[in-house]
Amino acid sequence: MKKVHNFSAGPCILAPTVFEEASQAILNYNNTGLSLIEMSHRSPEFVAVMEEARNLVKEILSVPDGYTVLFLQGGASLGFLEIAYNMMREHKKGGYITTGAWASKALKEANFMGEGVVVASSDDKNNSYIPKGYTIPSGLDYLHYTSNNTIFGTQFKEIPETTVPLVCDMSSDIFSKPIDVSKFDIIYAGAQKNLGPAGATLFIVKDTILGKSSVAIPTMLNLETHAKKDSMFNTPPVFSIYASMLTLRWIKSLGGLTEIEKMNNAKAELLYAEIDRNPLFKGTVAKEDRSYMNATFVLTDETKKDAFDKLWNDANISGIKGHRSVGGYRASMYNAMPIESVQVLVDAMKTLESK
Ligand SMILES: *Cc1c(COP(=O)(O)O)cnc(C)c1O
Repeated sequence: MKKVHNFSAGPCILAPTVFEEASQAILNYNNTGLSLIEMSHRSPEFVAVMEEARNLVKEILSVPDGYTVLFLQGGASLGFLEIAYNMMREHKKGGYITTGAWASKALKEANFMGEGVVVASSDDKNNSYIPKGYTIPSGLDYLHYTSNNTIFGTQFKEIPETTVPLVCDMSSDIFSKPIDVSKFDIIYAGAQKNLGPAGATLFIVKDTILGKSSVAIPTMLNLETHAKKDSMFNTPPVFSIYASMLTLRWIKSLGGLTEIEKMNNAKAELLYAEIDRNPLFKGTVAKEDRSYMNATFVLTDETKKDAFDKLWNDANISGIKGHRSVGGYRASMYNAMPIESVQVLVDAMKTLESK
């Protein structure tokens, strides 16, 4: 099999050992003679997987007592609605920092329940920066933000200061660095950006929010339903959870998030240094707000496009075409991407310059 350097924004690259072990589990799970995906989700084997996955999330993120870890379905996109249902209380208002397409989609869902209020936005400059120095109005039930803007390539470097409950969509940077979970009421993330295959959505929920909504919540959207049943109210996405558990074991084996962060910093710094050095390229967002997961950049001379596209194609690079709303290129460097692959991309950029 030829080595492909996969810079896809999601579904994304996972560690080679995760692919190997997950493949084996499909054929014969732990010598049970059964595939992982044909056994009961209530079997002792799968219950143990779910337990380990939830415990590893707590251990790796140092989740304090008083939080429940859930693996649900529907992606972060259903999460947008689940947030509104579970967090809207007396005011029926949620505040949103709109820094990109996903943040705006989250805001839209809030309006199905109550009112989504834009607290700060970077929509005026095509989401090329993270808003700062805004004031948060009173009368909100919660504040929602998107920690990493997968499409536009910006990332919050600080957790927003607020006195209202804080909710964060961390789909594309969860497990990329340590975070202070105690600052949040809900953290949620689709698995397929930095954790596992699509199918599962991770929720980390402060127990005090459960059962506090002022409206009747449909059963499947009610986080309390799932918390009471340990994520087993209905059939969970067993394969996605299993592969996520393998990824969590892999993160732990590498030394946890402090080590992962060092690796991610080295990769991002390598690529951004070349974007800034090479006169043929420029970044598309404010430097201080650059994402360490998804780097967005464009050519300064569009006539070089065919030459550059040939260079990276020939180097077996895949998935770096920019999102249509930004254009140019987007290199996603999730946890499992080795720095060697980033070096291959940097070499292609250097070769274009020397031609
Ligand atoms: C990909 C992505 C989503 C959407 O996730 P789904 O699981 O496909 O619903 C939401 N938010 C962010 C930040 C994303 O990167």
